[in-house]
Amino acid sequence: MTVKRLLGLDIAAEKYSYSSDAEIGYTSAQKVADRWVATTCGYCSVGCGMFLGVKGGRAVSVRGNPGHPVNLGKLCPKGLSEHYTIEAENRAKHPLLRKNGKLARVSWDEALDVMVKKFQEIQLKYGPEALGVISTGQLVTEEFYTLGKLVQLGFGTSNFDGNTTLCMASAVSGYKRSFGSDGPPGAYEDFEKADVIFLIGANIADNHPILCQKLEANHQKTLIVADPRVTKTAMMADLYLPLRPRSDIALVNGIMHILIRAGLVDRDYVAQNTTGFEELEKFLEKYAPEYVSEITGLDEELIYKTASLYGRARAALIGWTMGVNHSTKGTETVNAINTLSLITGQIGRPGASPFSITGQCNAMGTRESGFTSTLPGYRKFESARDREELASLWGITADRIPAARGLAYPDIVEAAVQKKIRALWIIATNPIVSFPNLDVLKQGLESLDCLVVQDGFHPTPTSELAHLVLPAAIWGEKEGTYTNSERRVSKVNRAVAPPCEAKSDFAIFLDVAKRLGCYDELFPGWIRSEHAFEEWKRASAGRLCDYSGMSYDLIEQHNGIQWPFPAGAQEVKTTRLYEDGRFPTDDGKARLFCIDWVPFPEQPDNEYPFVLNTGRTVEHWHTRTKTGQVPILERMAPAAWVEMNPRDARALRLRPHDRVNVCSRRGQVSSIELRVTEIVAPGQVFMPFHFFETNANQVTQSAFDPISREPNYKQCAVRVERVSAAR
Ligand code: SF4
Repeated sequence: MTVKRLLGLDIAAEKYSYSSDAEIGYTSAQKVADRWVATTCGYCSVGCGMFLGVKGGRAVSVRGNPGHPVNLGKLCPKGLSEHYTIEAENRAKHPLLRKNGKLARVSWDEALDVMVKKFQEIQLKYGPEALGVISTGQLVTEEFYTLGKLVQLGFGTSNFDGNTTLCMASAVSGYKRSFGSDGPPGAYEDFEKADVIFLIGANIADNHPILCQKLEANHQKTLIVADPRVTKTAMMADLYLPLRPRSDIALVNGIMHILIRAGLVDRDYVAQNTTGFEELEKFLEKYAPEYVSEITGLDEELIYKTASLYGRARAALIGWTMGVNHSTKGTETVNAINTLSLITGQIGRPGASPFSITGQCNAMGTRESGFTSTLPGYRKFESARDREELASLWGITADRIPAARGLAYPDIVEAAVQKKIRALWIIATNPIVSFPNLDVLKQGLESLDCLVVQDGFHPTPTSELAHLVLPAAIWGEKEGTYTNSERRVSKVNRAVAPPCEAKSDFAIFLDVAKRLGCYDELFPGWIRSEHAFEEWKRASAGRLCDYSGMSYDLIEQHNGIQWPFPAGAQEVKTTRLYEDGRFPTDDGKARLFCIDWVPFPEQPDNEYPFVLNTGRTVEHWHTRTKTGQVPILERMAPAAWVEMNPRDARALRLRPHDRVNVCSRRGQVSSIELRVTEIVAPGQVFMPFHFFETNANQVTQSAFDPISREPNYKQCAVRVERVSAAR
């Protein structure tokens, strides 16, 4: 307590006094804003519209935008407290350069001169591909588009990827293989219009809370949830399928087997719009309910019931998130889901869609405008025509655009371990917490000659290892657009100035381009994010993700616009892809896939008898860089825990709240609180992955989807040992 408080001079009156705000009514005086700035939430891909309240140049409160079609004024706990992230104690404020082993403050000029010189020296000595770049779905689309050009055409390296590979690369690869292009076909309206909603590995109540509002608005629906853990979402289900970990492919195959036998396939749709049905029909013969029941652990009756509900639905939606994507079979699981949707004609109609619910606020924008796993505008690296199109738009020769993608995120890390990558630029992501099998990553980062970390926060576990830290503006401090999971492009606005010397990522990229000598060629006259947006619109014109009819004003006026919205489009309305049954493949037809179930790679055994499942909790966001600084969220979920079924706890003589170690072949999570609960099935344990102090990635494995390169975070074999008894 301060002296002033002791003397009664500071009674914290301001902190506890109330006042009235024209918009939110009676509230804490501290939250009364001078002005409200319309923007979009910077956490998850639901994409809620909100207003950020500003008082005296500081962000003081947040309220939902009642006119925004996504959330109609509601926000989840993270959104409601998002303004606290702006004034977090760990904001990065000045460029820092490591000198004599310590990070010391330097000017922007010195920082960027050193960065560009060092990158160029390394590229000259070891080749252009010795530079790797890992970015994020937290950037606005304009920044991501700019960064792609800077990295691939300015620095001339194609070893460029984002943390989006850690969460939804499998959905991207799955869509591309099934439909010929990335792009979620459905709209959020489908959650309200479907009569069957089938969620597989998607705990939306924790991870996309405002989507639950859409479910609740649909009174006619039957909600089916398949998840090994009885999540909050499973508790909402009409039919809950407690399937064994990673048996979803067998379940989907089993449903298709029953539907074919019951004549519940849309034969006309299949004949006109798909290829591969004959082969599929033969392949599915072995997935009889008895066999599927053995694999999944589900009663045959449940499998029949699910098939019947889905197969007889007028409109059915399948939604999925990380339970599907975080797997060595992620892409193929997406293909199996798409195949089920296609053979029943459950796509391209109101309420009917295979719907990948994305993770980060702008993961979709990075997918559309990216230069990582595809070329901007969902163009293909391997297509000479696509490369020519972009080259002509940019006024460069097509041979400067790579004909194949470079290394994906896990392969960039592996290349660093092998010293093939010598310099790494990490932007707005924190791999020391989020990357699986952490020790390999640490080895990779420690092998580098130069690590530049550009982030809105410092120190983070990753920025502490950097040779150079570049302080960036965050949500609330910069302008641009995000695209949410339903392809809705919403405006993001600057409400306050970034702290001290921090700058927007966009400004940093342009400053780097100037030093590199490519600004005039690649970004002529660009100053504002709108300059990038206007060029991106031209790059997207005529493509599936066509933005060309949009403008910042129009987006704001309508609280977001879904693409495609081509130039000349008159009406802003709900859009769905593939309504005409035509797909962007060579023959215009979607591909049906025969995907066989296989057991997951690391099975439990005597030494490591439990299957560890990892996931998220509503209070926190990814690595807690932001939410760990928000007092109310930290108080609600201050530490990690591990969940275990009471039967297993009894067998190990463990009691609730004991401290335990969770050990795998790769490492251990030490002294974590045990929660004994029926939420997890016997033989399984669950941990949230947000917490650096008790990091689940000490034990996860280096196993990746061979197609998408997404990590298998979900199943690894562990044992649990008591450290100390509960007090
Ligand atoms: S649901 Fe997602 S977008 Fe909406 S407020 Fe919560 S974190 Fe933000």
